Amino acid sequence: MEARFWGPPLHPPLTPPYSPVAMATEPGPPQPRPPRCPPRFWEGQDVLARWTDGLLYLGTIKKVDPGRRGCLVQFEDNSQFLVLWKDISPAAVPGEDQSCCVCSSRALNPQNLLVRCSKCGHAYHQQCHHPAALPGGPWMCRRCVFAVATKRGGALKKGPHAKAMLSMKVVLPYQLKALEWDPPHLANRQQCYCYCGGPGEWNLKMLQCRGCSQWFHEACTQCLSKPLLYGDRFYVFECCVCTGGAESVRRLPLRWVDVAHLLLYHLSVCCKKKYFDLEREILPFANANWDALLLGQLAETPKGERYGLLLGALSAHKDRFISGREIKKRKGLFGLHNRDPPPGAVPPQVWGAGGGLGGSRGSFRGSKGVFGGSKGLLGGSKGSLGGSKGLWGGLKGVLGALRGVLGGLKGAWGGLKGVLGGLSGGLGGLKGVWGV
Ligand SMILES: [Zn+2]
Ligand SMILES: [Zn+2]
Ligand SMILES: [Zn+2]
Ligand SMILES: [Zn+2]
Repeated sequence: MEARFWGPPLHPPLTPPYSPVAMATEPGPPQPRPPRCPPRFWEGQDVLARWTDGLLYLGTIKKVDPGRRGCLVQFEDNSQFLVLWKDISPAAVPGEDQSCCVCSSRALNPQNLLVRCSKCGHAYHQQCHHPAALPGGPWMCRRCVFAVATKRGGALKKGPHAKAMLSMKVVLPYQLKALEWDPPHLANRQQCYCYCGGPGEWNLKMLQCRGCSQWFHEACTQCLSKPLLYGDRFYVFECCVCTGGAESVRRLPLRWVDVAHLLLYHLSVCCKKKYFDLEREILPFANANWDALLLGQLAETPKGERYGLLLGALSAHKDRFISGREIKKRKGLFGLHNRDPPPGAVPPQVWGAGGGLGGSRGSFRGSKGVFGGSKGLLGGSKGSLGGSKGLWGGLKGVLGALRGVLGGLKGAWGGLKGVLGGLSGGLGGLKGVWGV
């Protein structure tokens, strides 16, 4: 057993079909108005697509689907997923670069000039960018700042890109109030989350803001000291919009039942199985990641006592855990009755309608997202950005530049490693876990 937060999964995922826009197709009110301007997408176009982890991945459009306001995108491992237009970034097109990439207009006035991103080459009206762009001097658009600064385990915290990111994060690029949420406030119909406005899965490494209740990707936050576990809601987090500046985060105290639940949930998402051996799987995983679990007072528990305390918690909460003995298997095996994250520790009134108890909604869909997602985005052929796909223009530059800067720091990369094709494909897995 070598389960780690950031290691490859033990068992390569099968590939359940999953689309990040599944939510948008559920029955409900009629879809909102058509897009403000016709999107500039076409078959065969190379694009960057934002995935549910907040990171950008290379793909090629196979089909434009106006009905679903998305495109079928083929990723580097040849898997295909529907990605919403809002989550697709095309490269700048020579000749079209005199118009705003948001509104497609060339109209100008002294208060609303066109400014060009020094990285991707797209032009923006000052007022079409969030926050409003300042003319004069080199300027990088929000999308490029995020492409550079987001990272598995948490975004850059220091340096000019981190600063630029923070200044963009105090403004959201969408109307938070316009989002239509499910009753527990875990998912919205628009598939719009975080500072990046990308798709998301609340239980797959996201933090919920105590102020606005929106969910934020681990990769887009700059406050975490350790990577998140799947389904870990034992944080009090406040986003940049709500603080008006840097994020705030505080770890909440955990009980042994919470630790046991969190470990089982995380492992079940990572390993895609239900039962784990306490002595051979759960405990070694906990010991190997002890510091990253941020257990507060429990962190001082001597190694020799951890087994007994976990066993006690697993045995005492039969409403949550099922033991191997109950299903006529080994008694050292434990699993979750329902594959749901731990309820979390914050009283529901603090969260408003956001709900302390997640209920079952979303968790299985979520894990599907992980496994489906991995299929879409990992394991690409090496060097595709730098190679024959020549159309790439500015965005290639963004990622190429990063490769230059960080190239030597193996493993310090998070998602961009995958974007750049740094993985040979042998990991076969969960793109959600190989940061750090
Ligand atoms: Zn994000
Ligand atoms: Zn515009
Ligand atoms: Zn840009
Ligand atoms: Zn907030």
